Amino acid sequence: MTVPAPRIDLHTHSTVSDGTDSPRELVRAAAAAGLDVVALTDHDTWDGLDEAAAEADAVGIGFLPGAEVSCAWQEHSVHVIAYGGDRTHEALVAELARIRAGRTERVPRMLERLAALGMPLTEADVAAHAHDTPSIGRPHIADAMVAAGYVADRDEAFAGYLAEGGPAYVDRYSPDVFSAVRLLRSAGAVPVVAHPWGRGSRRVLPLDVLASLVEAGLAGWEVDHVDHTDEERLVLREHARELGVLATGSSDYHGTGKTRNPLGVYCTDPEQYERLLVLLGR
Ligand code: AMP
Ligand code: ZN
Ligand code: FE
Ligand code: FE
Repeated sequence: MTVPAPRIDLHTHSTVSDGTDSPRELVRAAAAAGLDVVALTDHDTWDGLDEAAAEADAVGIGFLPGAEVSCAWQEHSVHVIAYGGDRTHEALVAELARIRAGRTERVPRMLERLAALGMPLTEADVAAHAHDTPSIGRPHIADAMVAAGYVADRDEAFAGYLAEGGPAYVDRYSPDVFSAVRLLRSAGAVPVVAHPWGRGSRRVLPLDVLASLVEAGLAGWEVDHVDHTDEERLVLREHARELGVLATGSSDYHGTGKTRNPLGVYCTDPEQYERLLVLLGR
């Protein structure tokens, strides 16, 4: 009799950022989906981690704390997942607060653009879809657009208006990815680039830039992600193997906010997970 391999999903979002399940609901959904380990990696905040960890204990699945940190490289958005780390590290706490402030400040500027496009919304309309997240994002604006009948779903809002370079897009503060990786390392976190080649970002993070990030302290990158093609996975997996860094897999679950990303749609190989635990000192 063979024992089934553990199913490990290392990238998910809750209502603490732009997911639609509370941290508790998310962990319960992970257990119901048959996952053995789940990481909560909300955008630029650790606020959901204590609730999720307590629920994981209660339902008896493994839990890894994380955050998906908004970074930039050459004017393009890059996401770095920080696993673990010291949540009292002053410089990192301050940097996350600065990123979240940039998120909040951007909202009225995006609403001005939407109004000019004939889609008026108030900040209260957006807040109604933002639960009490400290980390407001474009998906919350998208939800308000859906509720107002301007678009059918989040995807249509991004494709027509909110995506990088779209008519309602406004940039926000993000630290450069090299300094972010160094900061995360200094706080004891393990940094892994999320969907490095998703949505056209292969041009932003080609193999040589990924290799330079490894020199700066990057621990690996996501390989198995819905936004990567088979060919991209092959190349990214091989590059990680050559450099001796982690190749992870995840759902990037957002609840009903992203229907192509059910929990566990991609998982992390148990051997890669064991190596991550070693890096975390667990
Ligand atoms: P923000 O946090 O405002 O930068 O928005 C980024 C989040 O929006 C991502 O983490 C995704 O959840 C979502 N997102 C980004 N681009 C798209 C897209 N083209 N279609 C649907 N969702 C997207
Ligand atoms: Zn998101
Ligand atoms: Fe992301
Ligand atoms: Fe994500």
